[in-house]
Amino acid sequence: MRIARGMLLASYILLLLAGLLALAPWSCRAQSAPASTAAPVSTAPPAQPANSQAYSLPPDKLAKAITLSRIRDILDIAGSLWGLAVLWLLLATRAAAGLAAWAERLLRRRWMQGLLFFAAFLLINSLAGLPLDLIGHLVSRHYGISVQGWGSWLGDLAKAMGLLLLFGAPVLLLFNWIVRVSPRRFWLWAWMIALPLMLIGTFASPLIDRIYNKFEPLTQSYPALVARLETVVARTGTKIPPQRMFLMKASAKTTGLNAYVTGIGATKRIVVWDTTAGRIPDDEVLFIFGHESGHYVLNHIPKGMAITAVSTFFVFWICAAFAGWLARRFGMRWRLGGVEVGQHALASRQGFIVLLLVLSIVGLVGQPAGNAISRHFEHEADIYGQEAIHGLVADPQKTAVSAFNHLGEAWLEDPDPSPLIEFWEYDHPSVQSRANFALHYDPWANGGHGRFFAK
Ligand SMILES: [Zn+2]
Repeated sequence: MRIARGMLLASYILLLLAGLLALAPWSCRAQSAPASTAAPVSTAPPAQPANSQAYSLPPDKLAKAITLSRIRDILDIAGSLWGLAVLWLLLATRAAAGLAAWAERLLRRRWMQGLLFFAAFLLINSLAGLPLDLIGHLVSRHYGISVQGWGSWLGDLAKAMGLLLLFGAPVLLLFNWIVRVSPRRFWLWAWMIALPLMLIGTFASPLIDRIYNKFEPLTQSYPALVARLETVVARTGTKIPPQRMFLMKASAKTTGLNAYVTGIGATKRIVVWDTTAGRIPDDEVLFIFGHESGHYVLNHIPKGMAITAVSTFFVFWICAAFAGWLARRFGMRWRLGGVEVGQHALASRQGFIVLLLVLSIVGLVGQPAGNAISRHFEHEADIYGQEAIHGLVADPQKTAVSAFNHLGEAWLEDPDPSPLIEFWEYDHPSVQSRANFALHYDPWANGGHGRFFAK
């Protein structure tokens, strides 16, 4: 799932720790990429495709979408590689060792030195990524996808940094401490702690959203839509009452469309962006909601957790071994310390950066695997969504195809992405393949029924 920049920063820590957080489908948004058009999206059905493809764009938007997706791909790849380069540079230039020595000179208590070190590290790391963030926002504004002013954008950035320091530094300190007290089995303890942390992150996600955006009850402006969403709730058994349905004031920042289910347990809710409600037909919002409900009904959250648990067990184990080798090979050159006082070189503060570097490398290499699993869940949710609105809208096929066209047009999605990019980067199937599937999915023909509903 690609999520908003601010959230991305906030979840950076868990990403580092879990490596494969990309497996987690619960923060799924209906749409995969941050982008959209300057003009409000019309509620008229999209133009009939000239070819056999179910998702198509008018020529001017097509040209923009192709250029934009190239820029996005380059930014994604550059961002990943730059992230690795920054960690490696911190070690190779001995800046990390210098930072640790500086914290030791400045403060007396060990845990305070650690907090200062990790706060400074997170700050440096975020600032290093700032130029790419800036370019991303510039591009997004140029294509009319973002309408957020620079003041507001910087404000969001400051909030994200604040959250990162507040939660990130103590979490890194905790894991650093675990390495120190258990140099042999630290990866196992880290693995046990990372999972509940991810669960807490999922639970807190809707609360963190409130720091960035304003929400109001959906019934306030769209009572008719709420009544219709309740029919989907009844059919799917998701037990989301109207009080748990919110309108997010996204229009202050973006022209993109979105609706999703987020949170778990007491924080579980449906969020519809104000760029979506009233802008596309209610039938299509119902379909998007059906898709999102699918993630819950089909247990994608516990399944994602289970897959993440199993894979991170091996990832942490491999990372510990790989980082141990790096520490032995480069420990002196990077001034990791620790060894002369009889400690594991990874247990020092700068040594911990080696672990983060290795986790990032393994996370990047594992990204296609995580994305393949995510795309599988998304496809299942698409099927579920289309079946969920059967009987509630006049034509589920047409509704789904039209919704994909509206989403694709709003976010300027490339109708014909490179298969390699799709394989490596996409956590949702391409809009084209989703629309094509929806166009031909009709299990009710000849008296049949779908996979998930008896009728
Ligand atoms: Zn989804």
